[in-house]
Amino acid sequence: MIGVWIEDGRVEVRSDLPDPTAADSEAVVAVKIAGVCGTDLALLDGYKSFRGIPGHEFVGVVEKGPPGWMGARVVADINVTCASYPPARDRCPSCGWGRETHCERRTILGISGRDGVFAEKVALPLANLYRVPVLMPDEVAVFVEPLAAAYRILEQVEITEATRVLVVGPGRLGQLVARVLAGTGARLKVAGRSEEGLERTRRAGITAVTLEEIDPGAFDVAVDCTGHPDGFGLARAAVRAAGTLVLKSTFPGRALIEVGSRAVDEITVVGSRCGPFRPALAALASGDVDVADLIDSAVPLPDAPRAFEHASRPGVAKVLLEI
Ligand SMILES: [Zn+2]
Ligand SMILES: [Zn+2]
Repeated sequence: MIGVWIEDGRVEVRSDLPDPTAADSEAVVAVKIAGVCGTDLALLDGYKSFRGIPGHEFVGVVEKGPPGWMGARVVADINVTCASYPPARDRCPSCGWGRETHCERRTILGISGRDGVFAEKVALPLANLYRVPVLMPDEVAVFVEPLAAAYRILEQVEITEATRVLVVGPGRLGQLVARVLAGTGARLKVAGRSEEGLERTRRAGITAVTLEEIDPGAFDVAVDCTGHPDGFGLARAAVRAAGTLVLKSTFPGRALIEVGSRAVDEITVVGSRCGPFRPALAALASGDVDVADLIDSAVPLPDAPRAFEHASRPGVAKVLLEI
């Protein structure tokens, strides 16, 4: 089959990749469209030392699987864990405690230990699949996975109408995070460098400010969505004493942080990764979260290297791959 291959910081399109086979309790899904995420770009920079087929945001159609699943249009949870395979025997300690996303044996679609969706086909456990509502266009369904990651914040941090929240980074993930947080009625601002990103935020009815306009210590919660080591410090400076700093960025390498002030100010730091699919599907189906303005372009799979390059430019919204 044809697919994208990442190795040693290079991205290429190959036509000699073996078709995936479905193990027990798995399906083979024909990928329709996939989204390029900041994490895919980070993989190119060495994140997770990944070698293989990247890609984890997608919508596809089940091509091989049990009769009840054949032809189903699906999206998928990207963490493959002990809980992905029935019966639930011999679970690792994390899964035994119900923390499946932190499964000690987990592989992650297109990120760690498992080939991803920038290819014609992908094999996935049935337990990871979610059916897409019939009326939801592919171009909307492809946002379920990153939107679920945004919903994760609401499982971790209490946010009410009174909460002053700052999202740092009006990029692809930051836009989704801001739209989810706007739904809580919180006193929300988005800060960033990219003029396109700030403008996109304003068009969604959310207050957007430049980095220089961030009021230091004025926020109960700050969410770093910059995907950049500097984001941590920017978000940190915005949080009040005893406030909460949510980390959404993944990047290879280190951020320089000043630890002492966080101890003195009793800042809570919350790492935040993958999230629940059900609220994301519901919000997209109802239109509570609109993603129509978040697509930059759709590129055919053979042009994937160009899509990666384009997606890495500042301010560029979601680049889709048409498989
Ligand atoms: Zn992603
Ligand atoms: Zn496990």
